[in-house]
Amino acid sequence: MERFNRIIEIDEKNFQAVVEPGVITQVFQEEVEKYGLFYPVDPASRGSCFIGGNLAECSGGPRALKYGVTRDYVLALEFVTPTGEIISNGARTIKNVTGYNLAQLIIGSEGTLGVITKIIFKLISLPKFRKLLLIPFDSIDNCISSVAEFFTSGITPSALEFLEKSAVKAAETQLNKKYPVSDAEAQLFIEVDGNYEEALNNDVQKIAEVAEKFGAIDIILAEDRQKMDDIWELRRGTGDAVKSISTYKEEDTVVPRNKMPALIKGVKEISSRYGIRSICYGHAGDGNVHVNILKDKLSDKEWNDRIDDAIREIFNLTISLGGTLSGEHGIGYSQKNYLSIALGNSEIQLMKDIKRTFDPNNILNPGKIFPD
Ligand SMILES: Cc1cc2nc3c(=O)[nH]c(=O)nc-3n(C[C@H](O)[C@H](O)[C@H](O)COP(=O)(O)OP(=O)(O)OC[C@H]3O[C@@H](n4cnc5c(N)ncnc54)[C@H](O)[C@@H]3O)c2cc1C
Repeated sequence: MERFNRIIEIDEKNFQAVVEPGVITQVFQEEVEKYGLFYPVDPASRGSCFIGGNLAECSGGPRALKYGVTRDYVLALEFVTPTGEIISNGARTIKNVTGYNLAQLIIGSEGTLGVITKIIFKLISLPKFRKLLLIPFDSIDNCISSVAEFFTSGITPSALEFLEKSAVKAAETQLNKKYPVSDAEAQLFIEVDGNYEEALNNDVQKIAEVAEKFGAIDIILAEDRQKMDDIWELRRGTGDAVKSISTYKEEDTVVPRNKMPALIKGVKEISSRYGIRSICYGHAGDGNVHVNILKDKLSDKEWNDRIDDAIREIFNLTISLGGTLSGEHGIGYSQKNYLSIALGNSEIQLMKDIKRTFDPNNILNPGKIFPD
């Protein structure tokens, strides 16, 4: 789909855009910003991933916390079914209850139901001000336990990200850059945005008070664009950096926000019991923790003997905490054997029936999502 790379229209009056799926996410974001508009969905891969892939995976990213995920911005789309029909579903309206919402069914279906060829997005206006705080803590538990309290203190951050020390170290090595306090056990990135700077200054003050209550080592405030971009670069580079350490399995666990301390504690306990290393980081504000399990120096046999049971335990824990298997990466090939931990048989069967209706010859991403 790389040649479907046009931004066809930016409708400033109705805050909408018509886009082809081969546009790179960051290119689209920067283009709408020229019109004072905002497409807030910003997966860390935004400099390389395509809008079509974002729809297929229903990508989120740091700003999902305040602004929602890809599906929240799609009003309508055109797709080609595996049997060759071109279907346009949705409308250029904010409201629409006209039959089943096929566009929303296609979003997050991991390329199994149709090939997306055109998207009509809803946009919002670009906030005038933005501030970013980087807050190191001396323990993972203090860091993660603070998260829920930022919200109960009345703040709605536009992003609230968490990294444990080994993720920080990996990003420093990979990017050849230093965090201001790089030996802290964990760090939070907290961003606030809005149209009134004084209100944001009050938010920063409240964030500092909560952070201090939970024993923050330091509070680093970035207000100019360059300094914020430098800090975000460290965060965006984390995923690739952690994955470059060794063979890995990444889980995209998501739980209610206040259950995150229990999730991370449980993941660490499970990893240590199985003798495997885990590195956690992710979108703490919405309870979406990327758990990376590393092979390091384990032999192939040790890795293969342990990994499946360890992942099952992590997923069982996630479900017991009211969460689910994937917040934004999808099931794909690698998580499909765990699907029944989260979904019942009738639910899976109904999904398979939908797949068969769209794709009777099973030609679009066969073998994805559902166990054989
Ligand atoms: C370093 C890194 C960081 C990431 N960070 C985040 C993050 O912060 N938040 C987040 O949500 N995700 C994140 N992701 C995962 C994210 O889902 C993908 O980066 C992105 O959404 C996929 O887009 P892509 O163009 O790379 O798609 P691909 O990987 O090429 O494709 C993904 C799937 O979409 C299908 N697909 C692609 N185009 C179409 C189309 N036109 N019609 C139908 N199906 C299609 C493909 O068949 C495939 O199944 C990250 C990934 C990486 C590598």
